[in-house]
Amino acid sequence: MNAFDIHIHTRRYSGCSFIDDGDIVGQAAAAGLSGMALTEHGMRWPDEEFGRLQKISAGRGIVLINGQEINTFDSSNRSEGEFLVFGLCRSLTQTCSAARLVEAVHREGGIIIAAHPYKLSRGGKSHYYGAGDLVYKLELDGIELCHPDHGELAMKKVRKAMDVLKIPGTGGSDAHKILNIGSHVTLFENRITGEDDFIREIRAGRIRAEKRER
Ligand SMILES: [Zn+2]
Ligand SMILES: [Zn+2]
Repeated sequence: MNAFDIHIHTRRYSGCSFIDDGDIVGQAAAAGLSGMALTEHGMRWPDEEFGRLQKISAGRGIVLINGQEINTFDSSNRSEGEFLVFGLCRSLTQTCSAARLVEAVHREGGIIIAAHPYKLSRGGKSHYYGAGDLVYKLELDGIELCHPDHGELAMKKVRKAMDVLKIPGTGGSDAHKILNIGSHVTLFENRITGEDDFIREIRAGRIRAEKRER
């Protein structure tokens, strides 16, 4: 089974995370993962540093993917949600609208996935920490389905969007604490050996999302 947790933050580059990058490989192995993706807020790991981590990871048979999670804003500075981005060679630190982010990612050959689109904000009903129904106006490559902050209603909305937009649903733990790694996963039909496989298989929709019981 090719289970990947594709949404993880470490404290090295995400101030809100408690996860030490030295612990992630052991935890991924314990959780039975085939791979995982690091998706730090507003940046991706520098190549050299990431390469070292990748090597350690490969030694345990775990594929490590370098991604990032990017926040977007409209022209009045209202949030348009967060997005997981893969396949880029640079960090997308500059903020822009969701539509412009999609455009930039595709221009550079990457893929973009709406992160927790229907995670409710404290503002209550129909205020989201994610893109919400804006997903219908974007050319996304995927949408996060299984996420710790997605209840039944949120998942129903995501499934509808998957149907209408014909894009696959992903799973990720959004772990900020070590034991959460692997709680939600993306299952790949085919073996993934690196970033190229990872991106191709998500584009082709040969994945499904799963919440794992502990
Ligand atoms: Zn997020
Ligand atoms: Zn996150």
